Amino acid sequence: MSSIDTLVNTIIRPDVRAIAGYHVADASGFIKLDAMENPYHLPHHLREELGRRLTDVALNRYPTASYAGIKQRVRDTLGIPAGYDVMLGNGSDELISILCMACATQDRRAVVLAPTPSFVMYQRSAQFAGMDYVGVPLQADLTLDLPAMLAAIAEHKPALVFLSYPNNPTGNLFAEDDIVAIIRALDGFGLAVVDEAYEPFAQQTFMHRLPEFDNLVVMRTVSKLGLAGIRLGYMSAAPQLLAECDKVRPPYNINVLTQAAAEFAFDHVEVLNQQAAALRAARADLMAALAALPGVEVFPSAANFILIRVPNSDDAHLKLLSHKVLIKNVSKMHTVLTNCLRITVSTPEENSAFLDAFAASLAS
Ligand code: PMP
Repeated sequence: MSSIDTLVNTIIRPDVRAIAGYHVADASGFIKLDAMENPYHLPHHLREELGRRLTDVALNRYPTASYAGIKQRVRDTLGIPAGYDVMLGNGSDELISILCMACATQDRRAVVLAPTPSFVMYQRSAQFAGMDYVGVPLQADLTLDLPAMLAAIAEHKPALVFLSYPNNPTGNLFAEDDIVAIIRALDGFGLAVVDEAYEPFAQQTFMHRLPEFDNLVVMRTVSKLGLAGIRLGYMSAAPQLLAECDKVRPPYNINVLTQAAAEFAFDHVEVLNQQAAALRAARADLMAALAALPGVEVFPSAANFILIRVPNSDDAHLKLLSHKVLIKNVSKMHTVLTNCLRITVSTPEENSAFLDAFAASLAS
């Protein structure tokens, strides 16, 4: 073994060495339906105007510390109740990690709990912060197992419960009453983080319910709305709570280009909302077309992706790759997802190219 290998094995944590990195597939030349991106650009005239704005951004200066411009626009656009603050992250990924770092304790291992399968970064961020992770399996119909969730909360007293609403990778919205029961069960010792990354496609939110619960955090992102490349997420909660989380936030975590682009995009948010509406319509069409294919089970979706079950997911995934279509094979994530595939809803053209390739791969 060379000395660098010895060094790595000595200094890098064994639990980090044991895992595979967050895998991002190389999509060049593919129809990319694996990552829940919005397929639409901003219209050309807006991109030109944004280009002119970015010309004036002072790249030599650190961003302004308060981020007042974006925060005000987030407040106005999202309807954050008076008295509640906004915290910005380099994607909501960073906010998940900040919450874990702020809640991880040295003396006893704090717990992160989430239904499983759900967004993988809940578990990863908990692990990296030195917390224990408890996953509570969804039921076979992919709904929350509320009694099991409540029992696990009573047993483990988690500091954080992450609820993806709608859930990734299943696409469904958990029952609002179940979420309320979970928030109430955590009262006094745990935070419920309702992760509304897919809100533009669900149009259901807990934002207006913040004043009902001291322990509620509502998280959003611009990624699924159409700006995945600029990396901006935000969460809203009681100011006392966010003031503590803010101490963990790396300084200047939102760069000046993101700051300028986000302010510009919020000023034209109606364009992004129209694109989301088009994707909701395309989702209905794609679900109907998939449901008409023999042997394909289509799960309900309130997101910009659709979960399906096929007779042989590995085979279908490989055949789609050979047709240059990239979707996500989630069948190995959990036993409830056996033979399941996740498809991001895209433009009508890309959706029908996918459908043609998929129908051909089922037939062959
Ligand atoms: N939450 C959920 C439920 C997600 O699915 C994702 C991304 N796939 C994220 C958060 C992370 O989003 P961002 O791009 O803002 O980091």
